[in-house]
Order: sequence, then structure tokens, then C-alpha cells
Amino acid sequence: MQNTPISLPVIDERARRRVHDDLAERVQGEVRFSRGDRMLYATDASIFQVEPIGVVIPASIADGIEAVRICAKHGSAILPRGGGTALAGQTVNEAVVIDFSAACRSIERIDAPRRRAVVESGVVLDQLNQALVPFGLMFGPDVATSSHATIGGMIGNNSAGANSILFGRTVEHVVALDVVLADGRALRLEEGASQSNADIAVLTQRVADVIRPLAGEIRKRFPKILRHTDGLNLDLMLAQIEASDPKRLEKVNLAHLFCGSEGTLGTTLRAEVSLVERPKVRGLAILGFESVEDALAPLLEMLATKPSAVELVDDMVIEMAKRNALYSRDVAVMPTPKSGRLGAVMYVQWFGASESEITSRMDDLARRIPSAPMARHMGAAQMEAAWRLRKAGEPLLHAVPGDRKPLTFVEDTAVDPARLAAFVRDFRAIVERHGSTAAYYAHASVGCLHIRPLVCAHDEQGLRMMQAIGSEVADLVVRYEGALSGEHGDGRVRSPLLTRVLGAELMEGIRRIKAIFDPKGLMNPGNLVAPDDPTLITSKLRVRPDDRQFVHAPADTQTFFRYDGEGGFDHALEQCNGAGLCRRLTPGGTMCPSFRVLKDEKQTTRGRANALRLAITGQLGHATASERWQDPFVQETLDLCLSCKACKTECPSNVDLSKLKAEYAAQAFWRRGRVPWRVRALGRVRSVNRLASAIWPVSDVLRRLAPVRVAVATALGFAPERSLPPVGPSLRRWMERRTSKRAGVEGPLTLEDRPTVLLMPDCFSQWSQPQVGRAAVELLEAFGYRVVLPHAGCCGRAAISCGMLAEAATVSAQTAQSLIDAMKREQAVALLGLEPSCVSAVKDDWLDLKMRVSQQDLQWLAARTWMAEEWIDLAWDRHPRRPRFMEPAEHVVLHAHCHQKALWGPTSHGLLRRIFGDRASVLQTGCCGMAGSFGFKAETYPLSQQIAQLDLLPKLAQSPESLVAAPGTSCRHQIHDGCGRTALHPVEIAVRAIDDRFSANASA
Ligand SMILES: Cc1cc2nc3c(=O)[nH]c(=O)nc-3n(C[C@H](O)[C@H](O)[C@H](O)COP(=O)(O)OP(=O)(O)OC[C@H]3O[C@@H](n4cnc5c(N)ncnc54)[C@H](O)[C@@H]3O)c2cc1C
Ligand code: SF4
Ligand code: SF4
Repeated sequence: MQNTPISLPVIDERARRRVHDDLAERVQGEVRFSRGDRMLYATDASIFQVEPIGVVIPASIADGIEAVRICAKHGSAILPRGGGTALAGQTVNEAVVIDFSAACRSIERIDAPRRRAVVESGVVLDQLNQALVPFGLMFGPDVATSSHATIGGMIGNNSAGANSILFGRTVEHVVALDVVLADGRALRLEEGASQSNADIAVLTQRVADVIRPLAGEIRKRFPKILRHTDGLNLDLMLAQIEASDPKRLEKVNLAHLFCGSEGTLGTTLRAEVSLVERPKVRGLAILGFESVEDALAPLLEMLATKPSAVELVDDMVIEMAKRNALYSRDVAVMPTPKSGRLGAVMYVQWFGASESEITSRMDDLARRIPSAPMARHMGAAQMEAAWRLRKAGEPLLHAVPGDRKPLTFVEDTAVDPARLAAFVRDFRAIVERHGSTAAYYAHASVGCLHIRPLVCAHDEQGLRMMQAIGSEVADLVVRYEGALSGEHGDGRVRSPLLTRVLGAELMEGIRRIKAIFDPKGLMNPGNLVAPDDPTLITSKLRVRPDDRQFVHAPADTQTFFRYDGEGGFDHALEQCNGAGLCRRLTPGGTMCPSFRVLKDEKQTTRGRANALRLAITGQLGHATASERWQDPFVQETLDLCLSCKACKTECPSNVDLSKLKAEYAAQAFWRRGRVPWRVRALGRVRSVNRLASAIWPVSDVLRRLAPVRVAVATALGFAPERSLPPVGPSLRRWMERRTSKRAGVEGPLTLEDRPTVLLMPDCFSQWSQPQVGRAAVELLEAFGYRVVLPHAGCCGRAAISCGMLAEAATVSAQTAQSLIDAMKREQAVALLGLEPSCVSAVKDDWLDLKMRVSQQDLQWLAARTWMAEEWIDLAWDRHPRRPRFMEPAEHVVLHAHCHQKALWGPTSHGLLRRIFGDRASVLQTGCCGMAGSFGFKAETYPLSQQIAQLDLLPKLAQSPESLVAAPGTSCRHQIHDGCGRTALHPVEIAVRAIDDRFSANASA
């Protein structure tokens, strides 16, 4: 247990302040130098943590140039940054980080006839490729992080992707770069630039003077394989120098030297890139094998079918995917060998001109490898779903339980594919000699496998193991004439091993070339040109940033939630690996709504997870536990989290931020000894609903009066523009009256014959929108059930979301016990809910919340709880009877609730499809932006509106005539306020569609 704060390297505060003041005065974008802000940029997707001097988010390219010049003037180190997804630690440093990903995202020009595009460095790959769709073009290199990696970062790392047999690395697609050097000079680097620009002529000549004498060493040491990014691109430069007139050097393109330079030579401002034709047809075969060895054995047979990609996924990734709600769906459809053991999967992809061409390649593959079961995929949607598991391979590995984790340090080796199987055997032997195992995945086609040995980085022995394996693998790579880095770059983790691979002479050449562009050593210092010292690969680790003490959460923390599933609270804090999928902006998922609008690292799941980890482990400078749990900066990062639960599923590491956010708030309330009254009011929304319903219709009149709305808004801090939630007469009273009225008129099934279902007495369908509750009762009765509304209290959803966990634990326990007792007493076959966020409380939060009900009983209840419409669909063939539905006249579109999407999918769709057939569709929408009280509060109301505008409202505008189905009360409210349309709960739509002419005589 660590209770003393970690003392991080001291940076001269006066110097820092001077840089800050100058930047703040002259840069138009944001200048963030607070401890918290800096620490959010202290990590990337690597194992390292280095506190930067400060952070600048330039408002434009010109602003970026200004920032570089100011830093250089003060002699401050500079680190340009994109998505921060680098795996080798090249995106963290004691430097001023200049984040180009937020505002420098313009695609300036697309020249389709010449197949060229000009983009700012913060443009994300998927963003560019989407813009290129109408032209039938795309950018060739396809990193797995395409949804959030920037072109600047791809150039920095010389990235490549699955299809690199066809498209190679980024350097092969860079035509020209606009860069600014650390001395402030802005230059355009391109082939022949030395002929027209005196500065570039001098730089080119000096580079050539360094490289020419190294020609022999370069030929000897640089691997002759498609994928290598070790050091600088000396081999390419040599070829260009040798192809030029010795004096004019007209063929030399210094932009290509910058590719893979990891921000050590200068800052890329914009790039002119070449484009490739978008393949007309793609096809994917997935083959199942028992082991990695079995999968690699027929690699050359696979390559003989001329694929664009051959990708490996091993059993460790598959095992982790099975434990993830989202990715387990992908494993379920993987082809499995006859033995039933799925130990490895190979993805073989082809691009072609026609489907028949692809089919014949698939047939060829099946003939060549008859023993492996094979699944075939064609069509964009099918392919995307099939690739999802492979793309999540790396981050999924972070969920491996236990202290030993598959770490990123020798994960990027590349060798000739013909030697890959032998190389893997020798690599495995090294790892096993050190008493460990490894995970294997990625680009088999080009011999670039991501192999991650399982190491415990939390003790000295583990760190020594890393150093030893690192050194031995570097030597192995040399023996196989391969590369230590095939695409991820060298960064902090491989630069100290580079001398072993490239030799002292080439390393000296690299040092001299860096000095030509950056004589003062300001650009990303310590990367590429590090001392030859394997112990450096374990220096400044995230788990031991000061190289002395390992950081942990205080062992005596009494949490309100259980963290068994995460491997303990300590592990829950470390769960985010920084891969940055939560920075995705492209449609197709919900995570993370606030980032998608604000494009601010602070508003990513990663930013929040980092802030929490840093605060709780004492790295934000707090001395006491009380301060750690009440840090205003952490609070700032959490304020705009909508508790949508999307990260719990969509984050491959299952970071459950809504749970951590609630825990953090609860710990703060507990330490303060009180819950602020506004939070209390929101957490007890049930009492308000009950009261309003009791005085209905007076309450309904009141809520529509402007002065009442303003008064409530002022008291509770709501936005005055927001309409107040609806209110209605009590569902229970309606049911009591109705049952007595209908007694004895039950049709072919008597009341006693009917199986019983419990309707969850949530406050929305009981009091706020009882018409939804009434529709559910009528619908379930039409299916032949007796519906019981049990006497039970609140599920605790509002209290949980507000962080009132102590109160939630008490209230939820009482409710849970009442529901369990009622289920047993009534011999009910199911507990059916109408409000997804209440159902998610039962099925998700209750299982984690420490409350006085047995886990076994809670699990039992959760397994019997569904959304009403979901259950009607699932149990379709088992209902006592089924009503007939009318032929629908209109289309229906479903907007599913975030909790539903995150935890069990948009399952309301099933029943709608049964009624509406093809006229029912699911909208590909993310979060509606309402999220309980989030959309009401004055300070978050504008963001709530912007989130609604991301997907939901534009998608609804595309189907103006359709019925709108939305099971979430908040979503319906947002739709009403956002576009004036009335969305209905799916059970309301279903009950309206019952054909009454047949209902009375409907049979079992
Ligand atoms: C799960 C996962 C999968 C990955 N898969 C692949 C893959 O398939 N192929 C692959 O090649 N890589 C892969 N990577 C590594 C990484 O995502 C890519 O290298 C990516 O291109 C980096 O882009 P970024 O915007 O995140 O760059 P960053 O991480 O922000 O930066 C990367 C480097 O470029 C420099 N840089 C960034 N912007 C600039 C600029 N404007 N000027 C100068 N230098 C700059 C930085 O200083 C840093 O050294 C993967 C990483 C993860 C976590
Ligand atoms: S929160 Fe999840 S998706 Fe985001 S960086 Fe962390 S691990 Fe990746
Ligand atoms: S719960 Fe939703 S809003 Fe909060 S961090 Fe996760 S994805 Fe983002």
C-alpha cells in the first residue's frame, strides 16, 4: 500500500511558468499547464508515464507553428502528438505536448484525377477515407486504430496495416510535408525541393554527407522485408541519393526521412498524400486452427492465393473476447476445428474486381488447406463485423486476469514470412526460458507478429525479465535478419535496444542526422537516439513513474462496489490501456458521447480513467485520501460523463466508467459526511414522481406553466428551456380498478390458468408515463399472462448514477428482496421492465453493489429479468397464446437506450420486426444526450443538445413519416424536445397493432 504521494521528476517551475505565460499570451488555442491537464498527456497506449511540461492545443496550423517557435525560444523540449495511440512510448516526454488532434483536422484538398489529398496533421484516417468514398479512393495504409489515429501520427510512426502486402507503409504514400523545425523554420519537403529552396538544399546535402559513407552498413544491416521502422529510413534515403545527381540530389525527398522519425526531427503541419483505388469487392475467409503453429504452417499456401492480408489471432485473444459482452458475439461465429479446440484464427482477405474473382480465390484457399474449417464473408457490413475481433486484439489482451499482463515491449518484430514459423518457435523458447507465455496476433502476411510476453510489471523480478527478454529478442531479430519494429516504432521501449540491431555506426549516423534538423535536441528527446541500455526499457513505467516506488491504490479503500470481475479495485484503476478507441468519432457505437462533440482528451473515457487512477494512487499531489477522492480536476473530467455504460462494452478493456464515476462521487460524499441537496433531490426522483402522480391532474397543469418551470429550473439548476417530465395517474390504481372490472371476462384462459409475470414498478411507467405501463399490461395479457405489479420500491438507478451509493445499497436491497419474494410467492416466470435504465440496475449494477442480499439470489433474479418487449420476442413460441397483429401501414424506427445497447443489445427490435417485418429498422444512433438528469442541468444542457445532433436527430429527420420507437423515457423526452416528435415505447406500438377483431378468440 502506498500512502505517500509519488515524487515525480522536478521541472524548474520558473522556466515552466515563463513558457506558459508566453504561450498563453500568443497562442490562440488552449494552453493547459495544470498538474491534472499535464498528467492526462503523461500516458499513451504504451507502458510508460512521463509528466510533460505542459500541453498546447493549437487552434490552427499557424497556431501550431507559433507554439513551436515559442517553445524553441525558451529552449523547451517539444512533442507533437496526434491520437496518442503509439505503443512504444514515443508520445510521452518531458516536453511541451502539442496536440494536433483537436482542431487541426481539415481535409484541405482532394485532387481525385491525380489521386492526391492535402490534409492537416490532425485528420483521422477514417475521416479521410470517408471523404474519399465518393471518389472511389482511399489512403492505402490501414492501421487497426483507423478510427482515431491521425495522419500526423501515422507519418510519425511510419504506420502500416493489415493490407500492407498491397499498400506498404505510410512513407510509400507521402508526397510532401509542410513541417516546422525546432528553430522555427517552416519548410515544404518534397522531391526536388532542394532545387528551389536554399535551406532545403543545405539540409539535403548534409544528410547525404552523413549517409553516403554508411552505404555498406545500411545494405548490411537494414532488413530486406516489407515492414521495418527501426531508426530512421536510411535505406530509402540512400536509394534516393544514389538515384540522384551527386551534386543536385534532385531525387531526394526529405519528407520520407520524417516518416517514422517519431517527432524527433520536426513537427508535421500538413501532408500531401497519394491515394489508391478503393477495392471494388472485398472478401474475407476466416479459418480456425487448434494452435498458432498449425495456423502458421500453411502461411505460404495462404500467400499463394494473392491475398491483401493474412492476419493471426491466437487463443489468448479469443479467450479474452469470450469474456467481453460485445466481442463474445464475434467468437461465437468463428469456424472451429472438429476437435472443438479453437486455438488460433487466420483472417485471409482479398481485394478484387468482382465477386466471382474473390469466390475463386476462396475456393483456391479451401483446396489448398482442406483440413481447416473456413467461414466466408463478403459485403461491407458483414466484413466489418468479422474484422471487429481482430481489430480489438491488442486492447482485449489488457483484460487478461492476474498480475502478469501481455505487455508491449517486444511486440512488433518482423521477419521474412517464409521464416516466421521458425522465428515464432525461437521466440517462444526465449519466453518460456524465462518462465512465461505470450500472446500472438497480427500481420502474418508480412511476418510482423505482435507477440506479447506475459510479465508482471509490478515487481523488480518482472522488470528484469522484461529487460532480459527484450535483449534476447533483439539478438534473435538480428539472427533472422528482421526488424525489432515492423510498424509501431521504437519509442522509449525499443530505442535503447537499437544499437544491438543497427550497430553503433548507423546509430551514430542517426544521431548526426537528428542534429542537422534539431541541433539543440529539443524534438522528442531520448527517442530513437537513446543510450544502449536495456534497463531503460523499464524506466518511467506507468506503474513506477519515478523509477523507485510502484504505485497502487491504497489497500485499505473500502469500496461501495465489488470489483471481483476486474480482479480487484487496483486492477480496475489500471484497466485502461490507453489504446484510445474511446476517441473514435466515426458512427457505429456510443462511446464516448461527450468526446464526440468536444474532441477533448479530457472528455474521453481514457482521460477520465487516467484522472481517476492518478488521483486515487496519489499522483496528483494529494497527501490525504480525503483529498484524493475529492479532486476538482477529476470532478471536471467526470462531470461530462453521461454514465451511458457504453465504455463497459465498447471499450475492449471493459473500462466501466459509469461505475468508477459513481464510486468516486460516493467516496467523496462519505468523506464529506453529506450529499449536496441538489444531488439528493435528483437521486430521489422517485418520491417526486410519486407525489406528482398523487396530485395529478393538478401537477400536469402546473408543470406546463412557465413560472413553475422557471422556479423548478432555478431551484434544481435545470435549463429553463427544458420541458419538465410528464406526469400521469397512478398505474397501480388503474390496475386495481381494471382487474375488478374485468374479473370473470377472461376468454378461453381463466385467470388461474394464466402464468404470472411481474411488471417492474419503476417510477416512469407507474407515475410519469403510466400509459406505457398500461400498454405493457394489455400486451402481456393479450399473450395470455396474469400481470402483477409487485409492491417494491426503487431500483436505485437515480441514486446510483448520482453516486449516492450508500443510500442506493439500502434502497436497492429492500427492492431486490421484495422482488425476489414476489417472484417466488407469485411463482412468476419473469420480471419484466419497461425502463432500460431500471432493468440495467437489476441486471448489472445490483450484481456489483455491495448490499445485503445474497449474490446468488441477485444472480437468480437478474437471470429472470428482461425488457418486456424483449422477453415477448424471446419466448415467442412459449406464450400461452398470441394475439394477431394488423398489417402495419407505416414504418417504425427504433432508437435503443444506451444501457440496453451496452449490456444486451437493441433487443426491443425483435418484437417490432415480428409485427412490422422489414418495415422495422434499428437506427444506428449513439447516445441521445439526455442521460437522466444530464440533459436537464443548465450547465450540461447545451452539450446534451449537441450530442442529440450527432446521430439521433439527423437520423430521425431522414425518416420523417416513420413511427419512432424508444424504450428509454429520457430518450423520448429528448426526441420530443429536440424535434417535436412523439416517440413511443415499443410496447405501446405493439399494443396498438393488436387486431381487436381476433383478440377475444386468440388461441394458444
Ligand atoms: C490497439 C492498437 C492497434 C494498433 N495497430 C496498428 C497497426 O495496425 N499498424 C500500425 O502501424 N500501428 C498500429 N498501432 C500504433 C498506432 O496506433 C499507429 O502508429 C498510429 O498511426 C499512431 O497515430 P496517432 O495519431 O495516435 O499518433 P501518436 O501516438 O499521437 O503519435 C505517434 C508518433 O508520431 C509523432 N507525431 C504525431 N503527430 C505529429 C506531428 N504533427 N508532427 C510530428 N510528429 C508527430 C508523435 O510524436 C509520436 O512520436 C496500434 C496501436 C494500438 C493501440
Ligand atoms: S478507456 Fe478503453 S477504449 Fe479508451 S483508451 Fe482506455 S482501454 Fe482504450
Ligand atoms: S459512461 Fe459513457 S459518457 Fe461516461 S466515459 Fe463511458 S462512454 Fe463516456
